[in-house]
Formats: sequence, structure tokens, C-alpha cells
Amino acid sequence: MQEAVVKGLASDKGLYMPERIPALPPSFFENMSTMDFREISYEIASAFFGEDMETSVLKEIVYDTLSFDTPLVKVTDAVYSLELFHGPTLAFKDAGARFMARLLGYFVKKQGLKQVNVLVATSGDTGSAVANGFLGVKGIHVYVLYPRGKVSAIQECQFTTLGRNITALEIDGTFDDCQALVKTAFMDRDLNEKMQLTSANSINVARFLPQAFYYFHAYAQLRRLGVKENIVVCVPSGNFGNITAGLIAGKMGLPVKHFIAANNKNDIFLQYLLTGLYSPKPSVQTLANAMDVGDPSNFARILDLYGHSHQAIAEMISGFCCTDEMIRETVKTCYRETGYLLDPHGACGYRALKNFMQAGETGIFLETAHPAKFKDTIESIIGQEVEIPQKLREFMKGEKQSIELGKDFSELKKVLTGES
Ligand SMILES: *Cc1c(COP(=O)(O)O)cnc(C)c1O
Repeated sequence: MQEAVVKGLASDKGLYMPERIPALPPSFFENMSTMDFREISYEIASAFFGEDMETSVLKEIVYDTLSFDTPLVKVTDAVYSLELFHGPTLAFKDAGARFMARLLGYFVKKQGLKQVNVLVATSGDTGSAVANGFLGVKGIHVYVLYPRGKVSAIQECQFTTLGRNITALEIDGTFDDCQALVKTAFMDRDLNEKMQLTSANSINVARFLPQAFYYFHAYAQLRRLGVKENIVVCVPSGNFGNITAGLIAGKMGLPVKHFIAANNKNDIFLQYLLTGLYSPKPSVQTLANAMDVGDPSNFARILDLYGHSHQAIAEMISGFCCTDEMIRETVKTCYRETGYLLDPHGACGYRALKNFMQAGETGIFLETAHPAKFKDTIESIIGQEVEIPQKLREFMKGEKQSIELGKDFSELKKVLTGES
């Protein structure tokens, strides 16, 4: 595990997977309803990372990083929203980013490495979660690459105003250009000889595995309500890191009957379910922009989990495509009928869940972002003002610092090696 966390990508450029997926004893599930988010998370974390560090260290990391709740909120009959947006940047990515930062910081120290450099490409939320998670962690420098003018003002503030060990690189290009630059950097031999590079996108196991924690926490909360079975979980998906963590939770024994991957118009996975063929496409822009992914990087992990069997995958997971039109309609109707305000990503989840749920089932959809992060969109749909939480407003006070770069890799390389 240690190597996987520090390196990010394997030497053959493939993704790391846990060697084996630990099964948890029935007693764990029996007792779960009396445990809180951190207690549950610590049990799961030790199943994966326990061999790499002392119990007390791992416990401290879990307890420090998961200092917020992931409450299950009832929306309508038998339909619950698992709110994952109560972390410091109001994104579900906070949990994974904070956990990874501390774990990596610990391994860097333990291995006596001089400095590890984290490169992360972002279209918004990943950058803010990763930058804030890694802020002030010793031995690590973070470079956030983002497309100029293509992230929201709030998001930009969340990673350009921090300073210290966080450098924001404003790229004159698209998100795909940013991602391509990061990939080129990982491939560049000369650069990798000069400095230790790693990734904080969900290809890194330490970023995506902690996302399994809150599926267990959701189940604990359902048990408190007397629900133990016939549970369906719907995950708004882009790079499929979040749902992969849920599938792993299932393999560890979490009794989820069925998963639904909710997509926006970028429905490569749904097409795969329907045809058995995986054909990546350039992404198209939608209202749920954190899910605008045309070639989900964790698809390889799903194939691996199910022995590359299309049939096994299609039995466990359903797919759904939610158009912008449907997102608007869902946000509006749900708010009117239940009083619950969805964000555009959660709206895809809610819509897909409603589409598949059957009598006798209990449904959970993951609400991955706070609606205020998409203020303009949501306000235009419901015709009411959406208040920005204090936590978000704090970020908007700082001063923006960024380095402007073109799309050319040589420019990035100069900045990374300090030659510019
Ligand atoms: C990242 C993100 C997603 C997609 O998660 P994946 O793990 O990439 O599938 C969904 N919603 C929001 C708000 C996100 O930030």
C-alpha cells in the first residue's frame, strides 16, 4: 500500500488495486449502529492500511481528517440523501483528499524522502479539496493545474488564495489540456529522475479508498432506522472513483443489493452496459460539470473487480443518463414537492434512483456537492436566492496568486524544476 500511495501510478502506468479485499466479520455490521463516522472509518482503514503503520498513527489520521459528519437525510418515502458536502470545501472529495494528504505526509517522513510533489488537474472541485487537504503538510508540494476562465469564482478562490505549499498553475487551455500536461509530466523520465511526482486524482488508492468509509456510515444510519436489507445505492459518477469505493465496500460485506451509476450526457458507462463495448469519447459540457468525463479513469478498476465480466457488472450496476433538461426539472420538482434542494450532481442521482427503485426497497443517493457551489444554476431553476454558507464565503476573502502558463509542456517543466 505504501508504495501505491507514494507513487500514485504503477511503473507500467496501470492503476493500483488492493491485493485482496478484506471481508469484515458479521459482528462488525451487528454493532455498527452504535458507532459514529470516525469509529466505523477507523475499522475500514485498518483493514487496508493497518499493516503499513502503527495503530495509534492510523487512528489519529482517521480522527483528524474525518472531523465532519456525513448525515443521511430523508427526502421522501424510503429515499435518503447521503450528504457528503459537510467538509471544509463543501465537496465529497474532502474526505479522500484530507486522508490521502496525511497518509502521504506520514510515508514521506517514514521513508525519509526529501519532497514529494503532487500534481493535480482540476475542473474545479478536485483542486479545492486537494489544495485544502494538503495545505501545510510537511514534505509535500502541490501543483494545481486548472483551465483559465473555466472554473467558478468560488472554486478558483479555494485553491489560488492559499499560498504556502500550494501553487496554482493557470493554464491557457481546457481541462483536457491540464490533464494531458499532468500525464506528460508523469511520463517524462528526466523530470521523474529530478523529482518525486505523484497524483492526487482518484487514480491514487489513498484518495479513492477512503470514499468507502461513508457507505458504511450510511448503512449504520439506516440500521438505526431499522432498515437492514433491500438497499439500493445511487452514485452520481464522473471518473467512477466514488462508485468503485462503494463496490469495494460491497465486496467487504456491506449489504447493498444494487448500485446505480448516474451519469449526465457523458454516458459512456451506460453505453457499455447496453452494448458490452467500452468506447470513450471527448466529454461534453453539462450542468453537472464535475461529471463531464468522457473516459472514466476508474473503469479499469471496475473491470478488475468483476473479472472483466460484462454480465457480472451489468447484474450489479445499472446505468442512467440524465440530460440538462432532466437536471433542471428534477431540481425544481424535488424542491417543490419535498423542500429538499439538490445540486445538479445530486439531481442526477435522485432522478436515476427514482427511475430504478422498486417496492420494498430503500434508496440512498449520494449528494456530492452543496447546492450553493452552483449558485447561479440553482437560482435560475428555482427562482429563489441560494445562500452561500459562511465556510465558502471565507475563501472569497483571500488574494489570488497563480502562475500563468501555456499548453506547452516545456513551460510546466521549467516551473516544476525551478528553472524559470
Ligand atoms: C468529482 C465529483 C463527482 C464524480 O465523482 P467520481 O468519483 O469522479 O465519479 C460527482 N459530483 C461532484 C460534485 C464531484 O465533485
